[in-house]
Amino acid sequence: MMSSNLFQALTLDGFLAVTLTYGEQHIESDWIPLPQGGRFRWLDNGVLLAEPHDQPEKTLSLVISSGIHGNETAPIEIVDELVRKLLGGDIKLAVPVLLIMGNVLAMQVQQRFVNENMNRLFNGKHAGKTHYEAHRARQLEDYVKTFFRAYDAPIKRHYDLHTAIRRSHHEKFAIYPYPDGRPWNLEEINHLECCGVNAILLGHQPSSTFSYFSSHACAAYGFTVELGQVKPFGQNDMERFRAVREQLASWLSGDNIRRSPKLPKVPVYSVEKELIRRSEDFVFYVDDAVPNFTRFPVGTCLMKDAEGSYVVQHEDEAIVFPNKNVPVGQRVGLIVRPVDAASVFGTLSSNH
Ligand SMILES: [Zn+2]
Repeated sequence: MMSSNLFQALTLDGFLAVTLTYGEQHIESDWIPLPQGGRFRWLDNGVLLAEPHDQPEKTLSLVISSGIHGNETAPIEIVDELVRKLLGGDIKLAVPVLLIMGNVLAMQVQQRFVNENMNRLFNGKHAGKTHYEAHRARQLEDYVKTFFRAYDAPIKRHYDLHTAIRRSHHEKFAIYPYPDGRPWNLEEINHLECCGVNAILLGHQPSSTFSYFSSHACAAYGFTVELGQVKPFGQNDMERFRAVREQLASWLSGDNIRRSPKLPKVPVYSVEKELIRRSEDFVFYVDDAVPNFTRFPVGTCLMKDAEGSYVVQHEDEAIVFPNKNVPVGQRVGLIVRPVDAASVFGTLSSNH
């Protein structure tokens, strides 16, 4: 693949258009200079690596991924815009960054996935599977691992950007994956608040998501960031994503001023219970259209299964990601409860 042809297409049509054109083809390029210094290259279709000209003080290395679900267009358009700003010289790159559009085949048909939900395939869950999403998840793991190894910085951060199928009582929320025994990092939560995130959900166990992979396998601060509701390409009101767009652009420009961590102003939730479909004769009483973080009166029966039922226990319980259309053994929803931030994050000094 001629780098000059690719570069011309990128300049004329943008990262999204080029990515859609090449589909599952592997493309690679030589280093190409950026107008404000630094350089970039394709590692694969939908995967751009960019590095600054010089980085006197290593502070941050950043992965921004989008399109792990192919119909989640706003995050893809946010990554497309960042590439345009880098190429147009609007951003002078100060930190190494890996920019990803994940599930290209699903993006082409504007579907969530073509074979299998890609965010259930990380952390080795792709093993033994030969379809596109499994193959792509394995490759993305390799690119991210290699990136964080090559650009080792005090802060390794990965934002995996999503939009949700349904409405949410908290329009934008982030999932902070299970930290494997490391302390929750308040500064990182404060950064999420700067991105306009209205709620934080603390992960309670290892999972198969991309953000948990970065956290677990690369010791990065990885987050699944849900930015609102899914819309078709071109129909997103980008104003609604202004805070996160500006924050990401400012990190690329090297603005990573450290502030003393503060207890979050937004609500923080922890997982109370995972509702699992255990059998074929299973009844789920929660409508799929119910917004995330919906509460039900105490005593409401949410599901019935061969092994029993689930009845709401506390008035502050809420449901997240309800989805009854899953095979036996998979999750139909999460029951979450708000936690007292001070008790979870402890004394602030321990987070420095
Ligand atoms: Zn998603």
